[in-house]
Amino acid sequence: MVEIPCEGGCSCGRVRYRCSARPFVEYTCHCRACQRVTSSAFATCMQVPAEALSWSSGTPRDWLRTADSGNRITTSACADCGSALVVANAARPRLRTIYVGTLDRPKEVEVDAHIFVSRKLPWVVLPEGHRVFSEAGDWRGDYAHDPTRLER
Ligand SMILES: [Zn+2]
Ligand SMILES: [Zn+2]
Repeated sequence: MVEIPCEGGCSCGRVRYRCSARPFVEYTCHCRACQRVTSSAFATCMQVPAEALSWSSGTPRDWLRTADSGNRITTSACADCGSALVVANAARPRLRTIYVGTLDRPKEVEVDAHIFVSRKLPWVVLPEGHRVFSEAGDWRGDYAHDPTRLER
């Protein structure tokens, strides 16, 4: 379980963040955008309340893209070393997605779901018993106590 507060930062250490809430959902994303932005096979992510996340050192550079869904996605990265840290989806302004690889204690994250597996690289084997979504994840159960976070 993720112990709070949790902290993380970029490769060079200039940009750092702090999160004061436990994640709602912990998952891997196999979409092409996450493969490119992490330069890897998939991204490991956790979603947290937007208000729980703050920048504790440095200022990230934000870049904007439009996802296949049409959603406007902002990725906050270190301008010096290039590490992508946090993603904001304009369709869900009350949430932020943290790229788990940037956490100081990534082992605390307990992934149990996998999304956009239709784009998964063929040699990536998913653990048995985890939730698997061909496209976007269905997080209604994860947000059952506050589903409005998924709506606005
Ligand atoms: Zn950096
Ligand atoms: Zn993705």
